[in-house]
Amino acid sequence: MTHRLRFAPSPTGNLHIGGARTALFNWLQARHAGGKFLLRIEDTDIARSTEESRQAILEALDWLGLDIDEDIVLQSTRRDVHVAAALRLLEEGKAYRCYCTPEELQAMREKATAEGRSPKYDGTWRNRTDHPPEGTPFTVRFAMPLDGTTVIDDIVLGEITVPNEELDDLIILRSDGTPTYNFVVVCDDAFMGVTTVCRGQDHMSNTFRQFHIYRALGHEVPRFAHLPLVDGLSKRKGSASVQHYRDIGYLREAVINYISRLGWSHGDQEIFSVEELVEKFDLADVNRSSGKYDEVKMAWVNEQWIKRLPAEELAVRLLPYLSDLGVETSADERLVSLVRQLQERSKTLVDMAEGARFAFQRPTAFDEKAVKKWIKPASRAAFEEILAALPGLDAFTPDELEAAIKSVAERHELGLGKVAQPIRIALTGTSVSPPIFDAIAIVGREETVHRMRAALHLYDDA
Ligand code: GLU
Repeated sequence: MTHRLRFAPSPTGNLHIGGARTALFNWLQARHAGGKFLLRIEDTDIARSTEESRQAILEALDWLGLDIDEDIVLQSTRRDVHVAAALRLLEEGKAYRCYCTPEELQAMREKATAEGRSPKYDGTWRNRTDHPPEGTPFTVRFAMPLDGTTVIDDIVLGEITVPNEELDDLIILRSDGTPTYNFVVVCDDAFMGVTTVCRGQDHMSNTFRQFHIYRALGHEVPRFAHLPLVDGLSKRKGSASVQHYRDIGYLREAVINYISRLGWSHGDQEIFSVEELVEKFDLADVNRSSGKYDEVKMAWVNEQWIKRLPAEELAVRLLPYLSDLGVETSADERLVSLVRQLQERSKTLVDMAEGARFAFQRPTAFDEKAVKKWIKPASRAAFEEILAALPGLDAFTPDELEAAIKSVAERHELGLGKVAQPIRIALTGTSVSPPIFDAIAIVGREETVHRMRAALHLYDDA
């Protein structure tokens, strides 16, 4: 049997970390088992669904690399099929018309609560045989079994049993003729041939109801895997979107690596490539609790991935972040070697772009603290001597620069820092950069001379 899994987001906002985890687990299971990963956009809630959200979700899935195997199913386009299925159940006596008014339902709930019963529908119209006059509004309710139990053998949670008397005769068609959520999910999962439904534990109570709808419609009930909710996520929906992490310069490898661990583990291993996850992941190994969402840990995972990714690849990824700083360049050898120097010291791509900026842009200001600390009369002569020597150097390589600058420092009996820092300030406006000789080589001869000259005036106030 081909495994068919789906992600079914409602397009009512960005894809946040919780939703991304659900998407990832479905995708991993599909890839692991050689099955299919499908996408259904649950856009029947017209008031809350937006085209913008739909695009944002697709963009986030694309950025994460969770590729979709078949045409995307838009739930709203299947309305006629949903209505027809509900009417069929009505004809077959598996559903019935309910003529209760909202006021009657309200009174029913109040009475049940007052009597200490659960406020579920009391079955009034399941039992009545009379017919109100033609044109009286009605809803269509699903006739749940009245006794017995429903057992779900959940891949994550194990066997869960619910007495059927707890299950409500839920509405499947509203009085305006629109089908309801729990009903269309079943119609669509059956239509898409979904074999495993993997979603958040918050859907568990729906699952027991959906179970009976599958059966009534004559479909095989899929397997279910209910994922543990992630502690600490619900409060942070806004900033915890996938786009947010992309925008602050996280790598997709890191986001996937981190979220894969929210409820799944493989020994003590912390770092997983996507290929490794595909190989090792199995829904059967998902834990009943997923631990806490930990941004510090996520940042750490991202740093590991910045160190691991080949510099050539990072250079390509860095381009849009450089562009945000006004630097338009290409992932050429120069950028790659710069990336190599920044890899060890960058936490994010935004960080790295900031660190790479000096290679493309002259400083527009000088950090006051750095100037105060490092631009001292004692180093002026050495600074000027180096400036004068640069045009005559044979090769403008880090080694040659090191030899030349060190010899000037020695002659002036100055530690290397006292000589190097003023040059760094001249090149970057700050006291941080890659190793100084590499930094000078990257900026290049003419430009270094230009920047050192432009910084000379700092010594006037020293
Ligand atoms: N659309 C639902 C949600 O976004 C998911 C439904 C399901 O996975 O069955 O929570």
